[in-house]
Amino acid sequence: LEIFFSYNQLKHNPPSEFFADEIEPYLEVADRARLVLDRLIHDVRFKVSQPRHHKDWAEFLLKIHDPLYLAILKEVSESARQPGDYYADFDPESLERNSDAQKIFEFCYDTLTPIGYGTWESAYWSALSALNAAELLRKGKRRVVFALTRPPGHHAGQFFFGGYCYLNNAALAAEFLAVSGKVAILDFDFHHGNGTESIFYARRRVLYTSIHCAPILAYPFYTGSADARGTGRGTGYNFNIPLQPNCGEKHYRSALHNALRTIKEFSPRYLVVSAGFDIFADDPDGSFDLTPDFSEELASSIASLDVSSLIVLEGGYNLKLLPQLVYTFLLTMDKKMAGNSHF
Ligand SMILES: [Zn+2]
Repeated sequence: LEIFFSYNQLKHNPPSEFFADEIEPYLEVADRARLVLDRLIHDVRFKVSQPRHHKDWAEFLLKIHDPLYLAILKEVSESARQPGDYYADFDPESLERNSDAQKIFEFCYDTLTPIGYGTWESAYWSALSALNAAELLRKGKRRVVFALTRPPGHHAGQFFFGGYCYLNNAALAAEFLAVSGKVAILDFDFHHGNGTESIFYARRRVLYTSIHCAPILAYPFYTGSADARGTGRGTGYNFNIPLQPNCGEKHYRSALHNALRTIKEFSPRYLVVSAGFDIFADDPDGSFDLTPDFSEELASSIASLDVSSLIVLEGGYNLKLLPQLVYTFLLTMDKKMAGNSHF
């Protein structure tokens, strides 16, 4: 199973975030990717590929994100000269050091997403991991590919960023794949993917399906309700399934089957999975009651769709559990898809 990942994705490492009145250590740490990679490469069935950069990819980002946003994000990030140097709108002193940095926060809707040393580089290479993986999938020689995307992406929209996300990896991949056929996105992160939803809200060639903790009760709080069904030509191509904060396997399973049935009716050529492992019990950022064993059932149910799939990493912050959850999920997906094989 091929994994796309670049070590440049580890540079971004803000020290802190501001949530519920407190400054706390940053949750979306580089170690997430490092530990997952470590778990995967000890198994010969996984192969790591470096994403490649070329001019077309850089231009491709403009299909999803606003040019001014991209330019300012890059500029402000690159103005931070050393590790630990971050600008955040909850830390006015950090902005005083560079008053130009203030302008990037006009695009930001929360206090979880600082910008500084390595932010642009990490976000850029994370997006490239997703795009290179999508390219390999589109060539048709693989049925499952994994992009170890960190920082994650599903909270980033065309004109906004937040929730640890800067560039929307899943949306970029879906846009790339949509050239060859219909694309369904299944977002199973604990948090609603407000960025991805907004990007495809008026589109019918890309179906967005999300299972997440109900709005008001969980971040990002203001999106993700079941009556958000899309707009204009996209009406009926956005499908949210909000769940209670303490949701267990029984309810989760029925939500999953609903989502998969909708995807099946849509009959996509490709599936992009926004895989957020913060749905499992003991995640510091989630509260569902799903045991680690459920990772296998989840993968197996998704693979039963029998659609060529790109898996991109979103959340998952329990560093002790995350590597094994990802490992089990990917191996199950791969095994089951090989069993379905049409080659
Ligand atoms: Zn999440």
